[in-house]
Amino acid sequence: MNIAERAFSGLFPERHLSRKLVVKYSRAFNAYNANVKYTAGSMTFRLSYEWKKVSDEIKIGLIQLLLLKVYHEKKHTLNIDLYEKFIKSVGDYTQVTETEPVLEQSFNRVNEKYFYGMLDIPNLCWGASSFSKLGCYEYGANTVTISKVFQGDDEQTKEMLDYIMYHELLHKKQKFYTKNGRSFHHTSKFRKKEKEFENPDIEDELKRFLARKRRSYVFPRKKTGWFSRFF
Ligand SMILES: [Zn+2]
Repeated sequence: MNIAERAFSGLFPERHLSRKLVVKYSRAFNAYNANVKYTAGSMTFRLSYEWKKVSDEIKIGLIQLLLLKVYHEKKHTLNIDLYEKFIKSVGDYTQVTETEPVLEQSFNRVNEKYFYGMLDIPNLCWGASSFSKLGCYEYGANTVTISKVFQGDDEQTKEMLDYIMYHELLHKKQKFYTKNGRSFHHTSKFRKKEKEFENPDIEDELKRFLARKRRSYVFPRKKTGWFSRFF
């Protein structure tokens, strides 16, 4: 039995497995990312290369979470618990190798203003020019990714960038909390902190900013049948 099959039978002991489950390691991901691609006959779990060194029990938890996404089900297992503990702490030890001057300046402004300069710099990179995914923080890779929509020299764009940066850094600081196999990232504690951003109108201004920008963009179609452990 490979680890994906073990993950399946641990999660659904009463079910018969009708698909072939495959695990592959890929260097194409950021650290500790993973996804699953599935067809009628098979499911392929792609794990970033760093997972190779991690214990099977933790990887089983990761695969179980991906399985729950595919089947749209909620459950909790000891392995999921192990995975969550692991992913919350590993980022603090993940090497910081990626940065970019504009994002670094934004990080420094936000770190000084809202975190007393106490946060360690994470990996920083620009993502696609997306209007639906403005930013994300990957716990395992310790990486903040921000949509290219926020590239620009004017003061308003910088303020919007700082707001998105603040949101993602709050994820880095607060991590997440889990209950019944679900992870909660935007808790009330999170929202309360988010509201401490110095411009109280920032949400409305952000909506208008995006509406203005959106007119000049053409959207790529969303892929279906993919789930990744991204937040
Ligand atoms: Zn968020």
